[in-house]
Amino acid sequence: MSKVSLKQINKSFGKEPAVCQLNLDVKDGEFLVLLGPSGCGKSTTLNMIAGLEKQDSGSIYIDDVMVDHIAPNKRNIAMVFQSISLYPHLSVRENIAFPLKLEKVNADLIEEKVKEVSSLLKIGELLKRKPYELSGGQRQRVALGRAVVRNPKVFLFDEPLSSLDAKLKNEMRSEIKKLQKKLDATFIYVTHDQIEAMTLADKIVVMEKGEIQQIGTPNEIYKDPKNLMIASFLGNPSMNLVELEKIDNKKEGKFHAFGDNFKISFFESLNISEEFRKRIKYIGIRPEKMFVSDKLPTNEYFISEGTVSLIEPVGSDSYIDVQLNSNSESDVNINVKIRVVPDLKINISDKVFV
Ligand code: ATP
Repeated sequence: MSKVSLKQINKSFGKEPAVCQLNLDVKDGEFLVLLGPSGCGKSTTLNMIAGLEKQDSGSIYIDDVMVDHIAPNKRNIAMVFQSISLYPHLSVRENIAFPLKLEKVNADLIEEKVKEVSSLLKIGELLKRKPYELSGGQRQRVALGRAVVRNPKVFLFDEPLSSLDAKLKNEMRSEIKKLQKKLDATFIYVTHDQIEAMTLADKIVVMEKGEIQQIGTPNEIYKDPKNLMIASFLGNPSMNLVELEKIDNKKEGKFHAFGDNFKISFFESLNISEEFRKRIKYIGIRPEKMFVSDKLPTNEYFISEGTVSLIEPVGSDSYIDVQLNSNSESDVNINVKIRVVPDLKINISDKVFV
C-alpha cells in the first residue's frame, strides 16, 4: 500500500495546457477514479504519476518520497492500459512471469507467484495458452495478473475496460473492485464512463480542461454537484437542468419560477433565502426524483402541468419526456425526463401533472 501526492502540477503540450495547478492526495489503499470528458487531462495526469510524461512544474510524491527524477521502472508502479499489450509469442504463464524474470527473481519464487496470481484471477487453467487463444476478458485478466505479480506500490489503470462489450465490462468491473479490496492496494483509475466511476470509486476526482472541478465520494458528487458540468455529466439519464429567468417571492406558500414559456411551482417547505433566490439560474432535478399523475396532486410536491412527448422503456423502468406547460404560440419547449415504473399506463400526448 502507498499514498500518492501531486503538488501544483502543470503540464502543457505546446501552448495548450493539458493539466493546470493540479493538487491531489490519494490515500493508502484508496480506489481513486479520475473522471471527465475526453481531453480533460486524465491520461496525462496518470502518465505523469507513472513517469511516462514529465510535468513542466510541480512535484509528485509516492509515500512522501519525491519521484520527479525517478525513472518509470523504478517507481514500483503497475499500469494497465485500454489496449492490452500481452506478448503474443509468450504463453499466459510466461506473460505473467515476465516482469519477475526481468527482475531476475529465482525460478521457484516465480512459479509460486504465478500460481498465486492465476488462482486470484481465476486463470489457472489458461496458463499454457497463447494470447490469441483467449477471449477479450481473459486477456484483460492476464494483463491484470502481470500487473499484480510484481506486488507494486500503486496500480494505475487507463480506461482498461473500454474495448470490452457491455456484459464483459460489467463482469470485469466487479473483478477489479474485488481485486482492489483483496490486495488492499492503492488504485488510480482513469475513465470517462460515469457508471464505472460511480461503481468503482472510493473517491472521484472530476476534471475538466485540465483542472479539478470536484473531489468527493460517488454519493457526494451525485447528490451535491458543484457546477453545471458535473450536474449534467453524472447520472444516466442526466439531471434535468432548466434555465430560469426569475423566481418570484413566496405566494400562497409556494415559490414560482419562470423561464421562457414555462412556470414551475416549488415546494412549500423549500427554504430559499432572499439572497439565494436572486442568484438561482437553473433548477436541476434528477429523473428519479419526479413523479407524474393524471390528477392534480393535493400534496406540496406539484411542480407543473405537461404533456407526454416520448416514452422509453428500458425493462426495469421507463423514462418519459414531459413537455412542461406547452404553449402553442411559442416555439420554446421545456422537456423534462422522468423515471416511471415500467407498467405505468401512459401514452404519448397524455396530459399529466408533474
Ligand atoms: P481521453 O479520455 O480522450 O483519453 P484525457 O482526459 O485522458 O482524454 P489527455 O490525453 O490527458 O486527456 O489529454 C489532455 C490534453 O492534452 C488534450 O487536449 C490532448 O490533445 C493533449 N495531449 C495529450 N497528449 C499529448 C501529446 N503527446 N502531444 C500533444 N498534445 C497532447
